[in-house]
Amino acid sequence: MEHPFEEFGSMVFGETQMEERLPRPVYEAWKKTVASEGVLDRATADAIAHAMKRWAMEKGCTHFTHWFQPLTGGTAEKHDAFVEPGKDNLPIARFSGKMLIKGEPDASSFPSGGLRATFEARGYTYWDVSSPVFIRDKVLCIPTVFVSYTGEALDRKEPLLKSVKAVSDAATRLVNIFGDKEVKFCKPSIGLEQEYFLIDREYFEKRLDLKLTGRTLFGIAAPKRQELSDHYFGAIPDRVAAFMKDVNQELWKLGIYAKTEHNEVAPSQFELAPVFSECNIAIDQNLLTMDILRRTAKKHGLACLLHEKPFDGINGSGKHNNYSIVTDNGQNLYSPGDKPAENIRFLTFICAFIKAVDTYPVLLRMSASSAGNDFRLGANEAPPAIISIYLGSYIEDILYSIYQEHPSQKGKNEASPDFNPVNGLAYVPHDNTDRNRTSPVAFTGNKFEFRMLGSSMSASLPNIVLNTINAQAINEIADQLEGLKYVQDIRDKALGICRQIIHDHKRILFSGDGYSAEWIKEAARRGLPNVRSYIESTRVLDDPNVVDLFTKTGVFTEKEIAANRNIMEEQYVQIEGIEVRTLMEMTRKDVLPAMSEEIKAYAEGLNACGKAAPKYLTTRVETIGGLIDDVYGKLKALEAKYDEVSKKGSTYDIGYALYYEVNPMMIDLRKSIDTYEKIASPRYYKLPLYQDMLFSL
Ligand code: ADP
Ligand code: MG
Repeated sequence: MEHPFEEFGSMVFGETQMEERLPRPVYEAWKKTVASEGVLDRATADAIAHAMKRWAMEKGCTHFTHWFQPLTGGTAEKHDAFVEPGKDNLPIARFSGKMLIKGEPDASSFPSGGLRATFEARGYTYWDVSSPVFIRDKVLCIPTVFVSYTGEALDRKEPLLKSVKAVSDAATRLVNIFGDKEVKFCKPSIGLEQEYFLIDREYFEKRLDLKLTGRTLFGIAAPKRQELSDHYFGAIPDRVAAFMKDVNQELWKLGIYAKTEHNEVAPSQFELAPVFSECNIAIDQNLLTMDILRRTAKKHGLACLLHEKPFDGINGSGKHNNYSIVTDNGQNLYSPGDKPAENIRFLTFICAFIKAVDTYPVLLRMSASSAGNDFRLGANEAPPAIISIYLGSYIEDILYSIYQEHPSQKGKNEASPDFNPVNGLAYVPHDNTDRNRTSPVAFTGNKFEFRMLGSSMSASLPNIVLNTINAQAINEIADQLEGLKYVQDIRDKALGICRQIIHDHKRILFSGDGYSAEWIKEAARRGLPNVRSYIESTRVLDDPNVVDLFTKTGVFTEKEIAANRNIMEEQYVQIEGIEVRTLMEMTRKDVLPAMSEEIKAYAEGLNACGKAAPKYLTTRVETIGGLIDDVYGKLKALEAKYDEVSKKGSTYDIGYALYYEVNPMMIDLRKSIDTYEKIASPRYYKLPLYQDMLFSL
């Protein structure tokens, strides 16, 4: 290839292609639709479909698909050929506006959480006009929303688009109130940093746990872990560099600006970050990126592990969600002006964010959770399951000075202990560029970085929540400012509102060490929720305030909320079930037989030596014998427990018991297996070890 970026965007039917290939009026009608100022009529849709089909066929496509995001979190597609019998039964290529806009996948097997009964199992997909059509493997992919026959969302894209609209309307309203009447709409912008592990495919294929659950269910840490931090930002190994080059080519073709890549903290862990883009597009692109990472790895004889915690004892993987709101003319509403203290609009948007997060901390925590992320949240390397915000000392100082004027602070001196929450426990003054890596939500100059997300998750739900809670908080502020005529009155009033928000919500601000044990106590003292598990966090969807939030903003109906909760619980139980069954299977087929072979060998040695048997052999037989009993006993107990738990009443109860009763038993069994692994001879114990998997690239 002549130029490395020559093929950039070549597989996307984006704005440029639209402009080039469509008759002007058609192009303009499409633009209007994207800006939500019109709907596509039949003739326009037909014209667009025709142009898309020609473009796709020039690139060798034979099929198209409505690409959608079922509630299970991944993506789904069903391919249809363009070809149809025409006149005299000769094949013709056909792709109408109707086929572009609406599809009916036979998708009755996707979970609907009770939104569809089997007699009305139909679901429809509709083109999301704001997300560009693209080509993958000679298939024209049309990003779509997926809704039921009766109109309920069966995916996370439809509510996401509604939440984008809600926050856009709210932000535009507030920007207009502050005097900028030019702004017609706003867009949440998202940059998603993706962490992952790469291991040799050969190892992956040999471990059932990696294949079925994405993580190792047992295995001891290698003698070397990550203590030297020599992997972090180190030279990228050749094999990985070749893989990354391929990944970048694929992403660039799809118009995804993959920008940075580097080694992460753990051995064999890497990160990829694209340039931020519009919310729904960024999420589509992240889903594509995960898919491309997995598939490209396979081509290179590697396996890409997107699980949150593939290996015990070293860091897990997350996804950082960088969030900002940008106006149609490019102003970032979280960007401080030259003099932030005077930039009241900026401060108001920051305060709205603080209020939003402190009003719905459990909802936000839930949105970033998954079965896999339970191993990260609250563990030592990830942000704790307690939501707090780190602002940086620059913004803190501004808020602090504003807060001095609050009635509650009258007569108090500078060192008011009341405001300590901002300063945190081990408060050291930071400069504005400093980052607190232990905070789940951090303000990083002109955006908020939400760091709780699990690496394997779709970022839809966290952004649905961020958009919706912000929409509500912004609207509540706008309600109070509306009707004021003079700029000065608006500014004064806004300052007063900010002051009150600081007073009411300062408990959520924390700049100390989020990983410390003291913070857990301090957070409890402040009344901040600390929900331990994902399964428990799903209960937040029963909270009337949350139901109110979603229904009033029009993002979810009550029925949809209930359905989402059902699906989360079901999925949790399924994932946990696969893990337990895989652990039992591997214990039976890989571990116990290896132990038996090994003890047999030592026992034979003992016999052969007779009276002169060395101590080593006697101890080995005893130790392994003891461990066999131990592993076998724990396996039997786990089998019985899993059986018992599976028969419990509701899905939630099963999930809860899996978390609190079955998981600890799995960990216990793992301990015994690991004790054996420590002394096992590779002659008998053949599973790949951490030291092989993590240090071979
Ligand atoms: P880090 O120090 O966490 O690596 P970077 O500044 O490199 O942070 O950015 C990380 C991610 O944030 C990138 O994906 C980047 O495109 C994205 N990002 C930068 N600015 C914004 C913004 N205004 N809104 C949303 N995302 C942004
Ligand atoms: Mg980051």
